[in-house]
Amino acid sequence: MELAVIGLSLLALHFGEPVSYYLTLRGNQPSRAKTHSLPFVSIIIPTYNERGRIQGKLRNVMAMYPNDRMEVIVVDSSDDGTYSEVNQVDLPNLRLIREPKRRGKVLAVRDAMRTARGEVIVITDADALWLDRLENAVRILQGEIGAVSCVKYPNRGEEENSYRDFYNRVRLKESSLFSTPVFNGEMVAFRRELISPEELPMAGADDSAIATYIAMKGFRAICVPDFRVVEEVPLTRRDYMSWKVRRGAHLVRHFVRNFWKVVRCCPTSFKFIFTQETFLHTVEPWLLVSGLVLVALGDPYLFLSLAGAASLLLLWRRTRKMVEAWVPNQVFLIASQFYGIRGERMIWRKERKE
Ligand code: GDP
Ligand code: MN
Repeated sequence: MELAVIGLSLLALHFGEPVSYYLTLRGNQPSRAKTHSLPFVSIIIPTYNERGRIQGKLRNVMAMYPNDRMEVIVVDSSDDGTYSEVNQVDLPNLRLIREPKRRGKVLAVRDAMRTARGEVIVITDADALWLDRLENAVRILQGEIGAVSCVKYPNRGEEENSYRDFYNRVRLKESSLFSTPVFNGEMVAFRRELISPEELPMAGADDSAIATYIAMKGFRAICVPDFRVVEEVPLTRRDYMSWKVRRGAHLVRHFVRNFWKVVRCCPTSFKFIFTQETFLHTVEPWLLVSGLVLVALGDPYLFLSLAGAASLLLLWRRTRKMVEAWVPNQVFLIASQFYGIRGERMIWRKERKE
């Protein structure tokens, strides 16, 4: 019986913690500055075998900002001829840096940053399409706002969709309170003077590292609701899982690596956000697993009634979507922790997304 009580407490913590975190996140989105001149931006697109996508990506980027206020830098390490597709695009300020061999996204971005001339640096993945004009993001980069990222939507998959819906909301709420520690690599924009190329970590989750360093320097890194991006989700079940686990591992490592630094240096509200997110990415999934196991061992009947009650949640669309987003994600996080323990991976297998 005691086992079941401990198990129930762990489950209560598992569900209560994120809910209370969500409810404490309050604040208003910062308002747009009314500036007339737009900054000159350097848009960096790292590419590894993006032959089929790069032209569409370039056209998308060109349509979203005045072309005389931007330069585009493609850093290409492909062996599928991506560069020749880039060369066919007619854009005055388009530059192509070809890498002799694949070295990982971060080193590619660092090289591009060294040659960038813009006041604002924008980093964007080739497999993501912007739905809104870049002005929505860069106009806000003033005063205490040091960096901006997008909200993102998957191009397919119910499960990924429910998951995104929830996380977009959390990112926006964290941004309103002060700063979010998680950025989306589909669009990251920051004031160039705030981050040097050497500061980009030799580690995954480079996008979230930028967000966190900005907050460590006393500025805010925020996601805005009116810059939306659609990203491609891997096609097969297997690729979807390896994608989730790789990204999860990058995030877990990001939180563990930076936890003490943040606790020592940052504004209180960011310490709070970062501590919560570290907890949610490390301890949280284990509470679910250990809670369920203890209840099952301590009181099998109680376990069966809980399972019965939980399956009722699947009957309503709204609650079913929550379960579909939450439970697999806990499993992916656990897998990510095991994957992440084996060390940093700078170069990853490309999942099929088309
Ligand atoms: P995901 O968004 O986490 O699925 O990661 P992606 O595989 O989409 O990679 C993000 C971006 O970095 C894409 O535009 C890739 O083409 C690019 N990329 C990935 N690995 C490398 C690399 O080793 N070198 C360069 N230059 N670009 C890369
Ligand atoms: Mn991508």
